[in-house]
Amino acid sequence: MPSYQFDCHTCGSFDRTFSMAEVPAATACPVCASACRRRFGGAPLIHPGSAAARLIDATQRTASEPGVVDAPAGRSPGRITRNPLHHKLPRP
Ligand SMILES: [Zn+2]
Repeated sequence: MPSYQFDCHTCGSFDRTFSMAEVPAATACPVCASACRRRFGGAPLIHPGSAAARLIDATQRTASEPGVVDAPAGRSPGRITRNPLHHKLPRP
C-alpha cells in the first residue's frame, strides 16, 4: 500500500498508509488529533536502488563523510616511471 503525506499546522508533516481507493483528503494527526490535509507532491523520478540513486547517495555522503586516501588517484607511490635509468636518480 502506498504511503501518503499529511501536514499538521502544529506538529509538522507525517506519513500514513492507505489503499489507493480509500485515501482521504484529510486525516487526524497522530499527536494532537487535529484535522490534517493531504500534501500533494511530485513522484520521485529516480527509482530507489538504481545506479543513479546509488551515485546520488554516494555523492551526498561524501559531503559529511569524505573518503581518506593515502596516494593520488591513478599512481602507485614509489613507482611513477618505468624507465630503468630513473631508478638511479636520488629519492626524496
Ligand atoms: Zn498535530
